Amino acid sequence: MTEAVLTPGALAPEAPATGFSLERGLQALREEMDAPVASFFSSCVHCGMCATACPFYVETGDPKYTPIHKLEPMRILWENEFTLWGRLKTSVGLGRKVTDEMLEEWEPLLYDSCSMCGRCSMVCPVGNDLQYMIRKAREGMVASGHSPEGLIAASVRAVNTGSPMGLKWKTLDVQIKHVESSSGLEVPVDKQGVDYLVLLSSMEIINFPEYLEAITKIFAHAGVSWTLSQKCFEATNAGIQIGSKDIAAVLVQRVVGAAKELGVKNVISPECGHAYTAIRWEGPNAIRQAYPFKVFHIIEVLETLRAEGRIKTEGKETDRLSMHDPCNLARKSGVIRQQRNLMDLIAEDFVDLKEHGKLQWCCGAGGGVSSNERAEELKIAAFKKKKAQIEEVEPERMVTMCATCRTQLEEGLEEFTMDIPVVGLTELIADHLVEPDEPAAAPAEETKA
Ligand code: SF4
Ligand code: SF4
Repeated sequence: MTEAVLTPGALAPEAPATGFSLERGLQALREEMDAPVASFFSSCVHCGMCATACPFYVETGDPKYTPIHKLEPMRILWENEFTLWGRLKTSVGLGRKVTDEMLEEWEPLLYDSCSMCGRCSMVCPVGNDLQYMIRKAREGMVASGHSPEGLIAASVRAVNTGSPMGLKWKTLDVQIKHVESSSGLEVPVDKQGVDYLVLLSSMEIINFPEYLEAITKIFAHAGVSWTLSQKCFEATNAGIQIGSKDIAAVLVQRVVGAAKELGVKNVISPECGHAYTAIRWEGPNAIRQAYPFKVFHIIEVLETLRAEGRIKTEGKETDRLSMHDPCNLARKSGVIRQQRNLMDLIAEDFVDLKEHGKLQWCCGAGGGVSSNERAEELKIAAFKKKKAQIEEVEPERMVTMCATCRTQLEEGLEEFTMDIPVVGLTELIADHLVEPDEPAAAPAEETKA
């Protein structure tokens, strides 16, 4: 990964040589002020419903965590410069100014208390997409030098090493060798012309190495042709989390470069919600190009294999299982039925949380919150909503399909001394595979997943 080098100072407020300044931040906010943002600000009726949807507000009761309030600097700039009334007020010296101090005060509101879960956007009666605006507001925060240290460090590592946690290929290579020796199967690397390029997240590689073994077994069982790439194995995009289009584009371009070089038809995002929306929905806009391949979340691929009869399972889990839907997968991408169809294959006693799918509650760790040490207390506060949901249905284990959510569930449940293990859905499926005499044949034409 040598095409770009970023230093922490490049994103720090005390680095005037880089040009990061209030004026640059305001200019970035102006550039983000598109027609939807203008109409969202002008149509807000101040009803406060967005607050009732936000786990950070609901669990703290602090009005400063009201979603629309998190956007106040951007709203002031919009009013001052994009409305007649605002321009008049500013011309006679009455307009409120956006200052460095204000941006410093809002930094924890835009980063520490927002997991970009999008639940506020679902409930606003006038259709304001608050999460879309928060994503845009973060561009101004980065450009003005007001973003959290943890996210700056993750962005620097992602650009410089290819992983937000600083992992290099040799770490993954060790894991590959473990998987090969324990499964007796090959983990393909840099294979040309296969159907799928598989991406991983660093959190998965470090915390949940069982995922790689699970997909190795499932793909061998179903006769799927796939590969990892030494040039690009990371799926997450720190640029999108921190709010930097430039960093986002560098990271997306790496995936595109690896996929093109290997000539794959499809790219699979791992058990990570953020990575999926980053590469599938934001990616083409970030690089201003359509992809020459399709992008799927691993759960979508498994569901297609199930529907084609290429996953044969035996036995079912008998304990009471419930499921946490990652926000990026369910609410933002509409992947809801797929994971439940897969659960039907292997679970005897599955119970959904009362609010699930589109209106499920966030675990509290997404949107860069988990990379931001300063947000630790708020992250656990936001988790209380998920805890209450879990208590309602009393599962013996929780299932999810995002490494960040899984880590947050494990940490949160431990914090509240709830003895409920958490497992990834891909591993559960792998545990129930029938040993085939012959691997299932892949369909002759292009794989539909
Ligand atoms: S996106 Fe989620 S966390 Fe962020 S303000 Fe909206 S409801 Fe709160
Ligand atoms: S729910 Fe919508 S209209 Fe109501 S305060 Fe929030 S942004 Fe404004």
